[in-house]
Amino acid sequence: MKPYSSQTVLIQGGTLVTPEGTLEADLLVQGERIKALGRGLPGAPDTLVIDARGLLVLPGVIDSHTHIALDTGIYRTPDDWFQGTRAAACGGVTTVVDFATQFPGQSLRQAVEARRTEARDAVIDYAFHVMVTDLPPGREEELSTLRELGTPSIKLYTTYRPHYYVDDATLLRLMGAAARLGIRPLVHCENDALVTAQTEALVAAGKTAWRYHGQSRPALAEEEAVRRVLFLAAAARCPVHIVHCSTAGSVEAVVRARSEGQPVTCETCPQYLLLDAAQYEGAEPWRYILQPPLRAPGEPERLWEWVSRGAVDFIATDHCDYTRDQKTAVDDFTRTPGGLPGLETLLPLMYTGGVAAGRLTLSQLVSLLSANPARIWGLWPRKGALLPGADADLVLYDPQPSGILRAMDLHHLAGYSPYEGMQVQGRVHLVFSRGEIIYREGEFVGRRGRGRFLPRT
Ligand code: MN
Repeated sequence: MKPYSSQTVLIQGGTLVTPEGTLEADLLVQGERIKALGRGLPGAPDTLVIDARGLLVLPGVIDSHTHIALDTGIYRTPDDWFQGTRAAACGGVTTVVDFATQFPGQSLRQAVEARRTEARDAVIDYAFHVMVTDLPPGREEELSTLRELGTPSIKLYTTYRPHYYVDDATLLRLMGAAARLGIRPLVHCENDALVTAQTEALVAAGKTAWRYHGQSRPALAEEEAVRRVLFLAAAARCPVHIVHCSTAGSVEAVVRARSEGQPVTCETCPQYLLLDAAQYEGAEPWRYILQPPLRAPGEPERLWEWVSRGAVDFIATDHCDYTRDQKTAVDDFTRTPGGLPGLETLLPLMYTGGVAAGRLTLSQLVSLLSANPARIWGLWPRKGALLPGADADLVLYDPQPSGILRAMDLHHLAGYSPYEGMQVQGRVHLVFSRGEIIYREGEFVGRRGRGRFLPRT
């Protein structure tokens, strides 16, 4: 079968999954959008009919924390937007919210425009948060341009000197301005002094091998920073999002703040739910260099409990496509780029660890992977919804087959996966982006550059 872009597609007899529940029904796609849901929907003579019996019909996955074609100023991932979004598409991800970095000397507008130019080859739709690195006192009003640009969220870091780090005064000042101008900050929370001191102590003791990475960034550093950021956000009356919570303690702090009426959302990532620090004791600790690091055995299960209870708003990957060569260049965690590839494995791993393992319902799965990120980041109901009028971004997932995850079967450039050898339940069967099939049974069939920038509100 050739790549097929039909005006009308009838997906028959699948199990449609929404945040409210599941239903056995047909779904009719007309052009780029969902036209109707229901039983026994009629198709026109030229309708492409897809037999979806036994398959789950899910809204396309939205990964709202990715770093495609990342340039940190120190390291660069070698992927481009075609390659990065191709991997996404093959995993059922139909939208990414990535980051536009403000490089030295750039205005926020220039940063967003430059990133839009880079992303032109994308095969799925995309949006951006903006990494603000230079907005000195007096220039805060510039944040208001982000609403015009359709990128009304900024990423701030409590660590990573010298490029990204913001001190508490800057954090408070920018959160105050963000609150006033309708911009939502996302904050990477790790206490910089604690991780720096711990890293320096390990360096002094000659313990810089990969296996010591986990010790360099203790859970305490994250949990302290989460609490401090929440405290400052409350003082600034600023709705805030906490990225990549790696411990139950971080989520617990968010839950407590929320119970006191504070508008706060948080995410976690598959790596913190499926892997733990025992990996650092194994033969290949280089596979697990990331910030925050993997946590103590037992922590993933405590984190799952919060996810199961609905305390975590969504799951995202923090995808960084560093290659095996970059990762293994030197057995030194201080000189190894941090970040893991994960876009293509997000849905199968969360289906496996969540639904198949009995920790999540199907409705929770689509809330965590599609509906909630769409709502939080201003993409709903165009994205993340199985509703008439929504973009026909769909994944047909076959829950039956089980197999072993192999990096060689994946499309990202890294040449490895942190999840190598894991048992995976089900697989992505067919992926639609705006009514067009872009992945079919193991084969990418999308077109370079068909993806669109999504201005957010
Ligand atoms: Mn990140």
